[in-house]
Amino acid sequence: MKKTILEIDIKALEHNFNVINSKLKPSTKFMAVVKANGYGSDSIEVAKKLVALNVDYFAVAFAEEGVKLRKEGIKTPILVLIPQVGSIKKIIDYKLEPSLYSFYFLESFISFLELNSIHSYSCHLKINSGLNRIGFNESEFEQAVDKIKDSQKIKLVSIYSHLAASEDLNEKKFTKMQINLFKKIASTIKSKISEKPMLHMSNTSGILNFDECEFDMVRSGIGLYGYNNELDKNLKPVHKLKSIISQIIIAEKGDSIGYNRKFICDAKTKIGVIPMGHADGISRSFSKNGYVFIKGAKTKVIGNICMDVFMVNLNDMDVKEGDEIVVFDTKNNAESFASSVGTISYEILTNLSSRIERKFIL
Ligand SMILES: *Cc1c(COP(=O)(O)O)cnc(C)c1O
Repeated sequence: MKKTILEIDIKALEHNFNVINSKLKPSTKFMAVVKANGYGSDSIEVAKKLVALNVDYFAVAFAEEGVKLRKEGIKTPILVLIPQVGSIKKIIDYKLEPSLYSFYFLESFISFLELNSIHSYSCHLKINSGLNRIGFNESEFEQAVDKIKDSQKIKLVSIYSHLAASEDLNEKKFTKMQINLFKKIASTIKSKISEKPMLHMSNTSGILNFDECEFDMVRSGIGLYGYNNELDKNLKPVHKLKSIISQIIIAEKGDSIGYNRKFICDAKTKIGVIPMGHADGISRSFSKNGYVFIKGAKTKVIGNICMDVFMVNLNDMDVKEGDEIVVFDTKNNAESFASSVGTISYEILTNLSSRIERKFIL
């Protein structure tokens, strides 16, 4: 296709789901993380495929992301990881299951349930075991559990926590400390309540690196989209970002290219204009070390990335306007692109804007 396209390989998604599932005990539940529009892919298409594969749960960051899934007919339980007080009504209206992670949210949520005479609402208790992001810590969780019990409005479906450095084997000791702390807190809670909540802690690299962290369910995001392949070469990248050479410009020695005259040609230079820019998620910070592939050869970004286009060096390349370029694909994947521009695949993928047309490989 003669334009910028983000190909989403749904077959690769299925493959990754099966690879990750094959590492789990048959009884372990699978929660697919589809926040941030399915890591920049398309949360609806991804969720529909995963429903067909019998996924047990979905997780999103914010309520609105869950509402989008419900409006498309997704009936699978949806955990909202970081629900906000301003979204409580939506959570209830769309049968989403919130994390209870702070006294502010917990108290607001209980008040809403009381006001609306809602009983037994399914919720998940988030424990902070060392990431120090969200959740109740060791000194707070008992008070939170007491509030939950006293309210008699909440059904605790799960207790969970999140690892800080599961991908970093140099931090193994810290991770094991987190796992042990979580186990201890979870068993204290279980002894205080009559329900039998599920426990879960692993994200993708937790699944791949820490068997002892499997518990009753795992939460996989990036692995479903094919990354973490440093650890697991069996995963296949789902996202392929392609565009074309929209125009070729011949610049003379001394000509400047793009905004702020960042690049000055030291000789006659053949420049390709690629119709994709920072508004599409190709950050301006990629001006420095960004590159694309043309007919398999790597070529560098020239000048500053603009809002809607960027320029690349086409010297010594036998190419014409309309030829395809690849930003990342299966072979030159988003993780290598990310590391060369100083970030991680998560950020590259989730920044891909809605302006880029998605094409699904089914
Ligand atoms: C995003 C997120 C995940 C998914 O992590 P991956 O590394 O993408 O597998 C799991 N749990 C929580 C709490 C998250 O915020």
